[in-house]
Amino acid sequence: MKFGGTSVGSAERIRALAEIVRARQSRKPVVVVSALSGVTDLLIKGARLALARSAESEAVIQQLTTRHREVIEALFPAGATRDRLMAYVEDILRDLKSFHTGIHHLEELTARTMDAVSGMGERLSYEIVAAHLDAVGLPTKAIDARSVFLTDDTFGRAMPLMDETGARVHEHILPAVQKGLVPVLGGFIGSTRQGVSTTLGRGGTDWSAAIVGALLPAEEIQIWTDVDGIMTVDPRLVPGAKILPEVTFEEAAELAYFGAKVLHPATIKPAVERGIPVLVLNSMNPTAPGTRIASRKSDDEIGEPRALAFKKGITVILVSQPRMLMAHGFTAKVFEVFARHKTSVDLIATSEVSISLTIDNNDTLAAVRGDLAELGEVRVFQNMAMVSVVGRGFNRQAGLAGRIFQATHEVNITMISFGASDVNVSFVVDQNDAERTVKSLHREFFEAR
Ligand code: ADP
Ligand code: ASP
Ligand code: MG
Repeated sequence: MKFGGTSVGSAERIRALAEIVRARQSRKPVVVVSALSGVTDLLIKGARLALARSAESEAVIQQLTTRHREVIEALFPAGATRDRLMAYVEDILRDLKSFHTGIHHLEELTARTMDAVSGMGERLSYEIVAAHLDAVGLPTKAIDARSVFLTDDTFGRAMPLMDETGARVHEHILPAVQKGLVPVLGGFIGSTRQGVSTTLGRGGTDWSAAIVGALLPAEEIQIWTDVDGIMTVDPRLVPGAKILPEVTFEEAAELAYFGAKVLHPATIKPAVERGIPVLVLNSMNPTAPGTRIASRKSDDEIGEPRALAFKKGITVILVSQPRMLMAHGFTAKVFEVFARHKTSVDLIATSEVSISLTIDNNDTLAAVRGDLAELGEVRVFQNMAMVSVVGRGFNRQAGLAGRIFQATHEVNITMISFGASDVNVSFVVDQNDAERTVKSLHREFFEAR
């Protein structure tokens, strides 16, 4: 059972979490929690302020202390547990203060330091949640996830080492379950073989939960969040979004990958590989059936759009080389540059003399751009958005492209990717056009006309 930031965001939410766990106690749950909502953002902001040598970084530590103290005081009466938790919080935040001092003096904020800082939220939340479960009669084993999740050292988006992590899941988590305890651990964090703290990337708690679920293995992975399930589009953008009672692994993976924030893109993989169903459920409305993510039943559904996703902050890179006209090996050279800089490419479109591609992370942009310049003329367009229509059997449905582009005829489309899979059509528009594009597609496909 994974509980996201809003599901552990206040004393009231943590109490509700305990009742959700209690109602499922006979199924022997393992609980994986995110940081309290907003805490990871604050930690990252604080580190950046320290780098900018701003005195405001101190205020961020104050905010973090107050936030956790309020939750602890609301959950636990004055006494030993409250004191222990407050001392624990203060300890971690004292470390945070030293990190800020270091960042400030060295004027350097490496990915490694950022991981040590941004993972503190999960180190705080799991102890609080575990103590509350204990207090309400659900005995737990609180586990520091860094002792379970062994990862490589790609700071900021570390890859779990599955064999070693599996061994530790069996050593630390399974025996506790067998003893009737509820293991509680923070998501998102891990450590290298040398014991250096890492994180799995933003939103990574979903992935942590799916990995634990896959390695145990669990009979089911439950993602408890703040909406009734996976919907036709982000309900924050389109209030008329409709719930999808069931989606296939492929659809969920495409939606997640193309920006539906409801699930971390990698979540699905460990579960699919082992055929474990994933449920997306609402901790604010626990009796709602949610969305079940399960294997594809048949291959012969007719084409049907099922949901929309969008991702802002996309960068389009266009490389052209007229001399490469009909030459072989040009594409390989271009991709080699992205591989060298460990930068993943989302969409691709090619013509005879040029390649357009999109990336969603500008950390390596300058380096990539420099290397690409040796291959041809490079143009970069930032602040773009990728809009995706996800569904089934798209390569068998006449008229689908017509409907998509009719619905978006007022916006300028920079790039299109259609046909890479039969479950997705994606295109790129200016970021400022993203919302109206998504709204009009939603009207076209999901709202009665
Ligand atoms: P958590 O903190 O539980 O991990 P997230 O904020 O990461 O929660 O994900 C839940 C949010 O995802 C919802 O509040 C919703 O705004 C957003 N979202 C984006 N796309 C979708 C979608 N297609 N269906 C449901 N929710 C979506
Ligand atoms: N707390 C982390 C984040 O905000 C991980 C997560 O919530 O999944 O990205
Ligand atoms: Mg999330």
